[in-house]
Amino acid sequence: MAREGLTAFQAVNRNFEEAATILDLDEEMRSILTSTYREISVQIPVRLDNGDLIVAQGYRVQHNGARGPYKGGIRYHPAADLEEVRALASLMTWKTALLDVPFGGAKGGVAIDPTGMSQGELQRLTRRYANGISHVIGVYRDIPAPDMNTNAQTMAWFMDAYSGREGYSPGIVTGKPLALGGQPGREAATGLGVIYILEAYAAEHGVDLLGLPVVIQGFGNVGSFAAKEAAARGCRIVGVSDRWGGIYCDSGLDVGQLAPIVTAGGKVADYDGTHDVVTNEELLESPCRVLIPAALDEQVHQDNADRIQADVVIEAANYPTTPFADKILFDRGVTVIPDILANAGGVTGSYFEWTRNIQQMVWTEERFNEALHNYMVRAYAATSAFAKAKECTLRQAAFAIGIERVATAVRLRGYI
Ligand code: GLU
Repeated sequence: MAREGLTAFQAVNRNFEEAATILDLDEEMRSILTSTYREISVQIPVRLDNGDLIVAQGYRVQHNGARGPYKGGIRYHPAADLEEVRALASLMTWKTALLDVPFGGAKGGVAIDPTGMSQGELQRLTRRYANGISHVIGVYRDIPAPDMNTNAQTMAWFMDAYSGREGYSPGIVTGKPLALGGQPGREAATGLGVIYILEAYAAEHGVDLLGLPVVIQGFGNVGSFAAKEAAARGCRIVGVSDRWGGIYCDSGLDVGQLAPIVTAGGKVADYDGTHDVVTNEELLESPCRVLIPAALDEQVHQDNADRIQADVVIEAANYPTTPFADKILFDRGVTVIPDILANAGGVTGSYFEWTRNIQQMVWTEERFNEALHNYMVRAYAATSAFAKAKECTLRQAAFAIGIERVATAVRLRGYI
């Protein structure tokens, strides 16, 4: 998508440039880090169950691999295009560097609406896509993972397609089912990581989590676990939504009742209790202290940023806030905890899963969560300290820390 005259990749690079200026990064390095290493676009013909053929376009973009194998999810979404996938790939580079996990950044996307597709259709699509990009990925080259509208089952098909060519390779993807080398805790890791960041923010600013009103946009893999973990810490989940719309209740929603409805294939609006029915737009502007966008890109933009009522926006989605909205929120004193920090629990968990696959063993969920907590809290502390020292935003600080690490690796490896 493109909003406010900027494509998603231009918007991410605008954030990059602000941080690069704080670091006084030279032009040569900037031109390496604002472009991508490799981009492929593959044709994906899929025979539907009714006999029709559709031809989707699939992408894999590898942004930077100076610090390790390329890493990033695969999304199935009608709005996926090369420019968006570039943006998301570059965000992965800064995210893995900020968390200090030894990966580069990549992303994949297939421009398709998977709603209503059968398991057979999705399997054929996934296998075609895996075959189409198989020559540029590898256990030490590029490791995909789930993202929007993809899940552990998608990863199982992907791994099987790749293993058919290369031999048994569980480390080719992360976010796998537990029965195929998945790691307990990985599925919940992005949402849990978001709440570890909320806890770190609350501890730093003396905010009491008990009764804290939280709105979460999106009730998929990220939003649902974030809601559950926030509720478990005493937060009051006042509003949630899915793609069909949202519900709001000032006295709090019962997440324990809501989660099984959605898991069983229902809608958030099927929730049975006292609440107002709201649109996704209204939900973002509803009264709360903490707003967690956990759905699509560009949800907070220049036309609604002045109506956001939260004190803090925790970006569980990738690129949910446009650069113009970011400025409006900053001027209004709203803190934004950036995506590359807030949603980094997913890729950090992927790192643990990948290392376990290489060793052919698994951690307990307790050990996984403890390590995840340590990584998230460490990155939060580094970002907050940098922002204070340089008097900059948390986004500028998070980018600057990531950029500095990638630039060091680029120099040491002799790219320039
Ligand atoms: N799709 C997730 C993200 O955007 C996870 C990526 C991964 O684990 O490689 O961070």
